[in-house]
Amino acid sequence: MPAFNRGCVVGEVSKLYRSALAVTEICWCLDLDGVLWLADQPIAGSSEAVKMLRAAGFGVRFVTNNSVPTLEQYRSKLGSFGIEIADGEVISSSMAAASLIAPGERVYVVGGAGLREAVASAGAEVVDSSDADVVAVGWARDFNFEIISKALSAILAGARFVATNDDPTYPTPNGLVPGAGSMVRSISYSTGVEPEVSGKPNRAISELLKQSVGSGSVMVGDRFSTDGLFAKRAGMPFYLVLSGVTKDVDPSWDPPPSKVASDLLTLVKGVLN
Ligand SMILES: [Mg+2]
Repeated sequence: MPAFNRGCVVGEVSKLYRSALAVTEICWCLDLDGVLWLADQPIAGSSEAVKMLRAAGFGVRFVTNNSVPTLEQYRSKLGSFGIEIADGEVISSSMAAASLIAPGERVYVVGGAGLREAVASAGAEVVDSSDADVVAVGWARDFNFEIISKALSAILAGARFVATNDDPTYPTPNGLVPGAGSMVRSISYSTGVEPEVSGKPNRAISELLKQSVGSGSVMVGDRFSTDGLFAKRAGMPFYLVLSGVTKDVDPSWDPPPSKVASDLLTLVKGVLN
């Protein structure tokens, strides 16, 4: 790990979420689900690990494919774990999806409050209608037949199909539950249309992060197909933690993780000490 360097290039996290973080830094980019927590349950030592990184002078970004929480909800949840965040430190797949939507577009949102907030912040209009310009799909606890039908009608009528992420599953303390990809794929299957996916490992979220961090940054996550490929495409080392969806390294991964640890605290202690 290179020494921390405040050599700066003025930038911004995104035009949607103008940030107090007006510099690029060497950062630890941390996935959230499976790294800091499992649903509402903290992973032991994760907040201590974040504090150690900050004390050592590293920037931290939370780069998540979870599209459901609003920014305030992220701030509150991280705060409840003892982690205070500055504007711009959370970069979500909702923000990435919103970066693909133009002001004034009418958007049928399938997803949670975070996706609706991001779409509205892009200057688009959230509509509950099958004559939308865009269908934006994230994780939706209330996903059902009526929603698929409305999305199908809109997309077959020419609406663009934007997805926050393609994660097949979501890790909880009680095991895996369906992820946003399960909802995205059912709409894709019924329409025969492939979505433009914005979250990790895809370009839209990479663009948001690129404006915020410098070279030498690293990505920590629990899933190769999202975090690992995201790191590869961004030219960052990938540090795998086994506290989420992945229980073992798959030898077919290219490249293999630069580091593997049972959890974030073990990883950070190993790197810093
Ligand atoms: Mg994860």
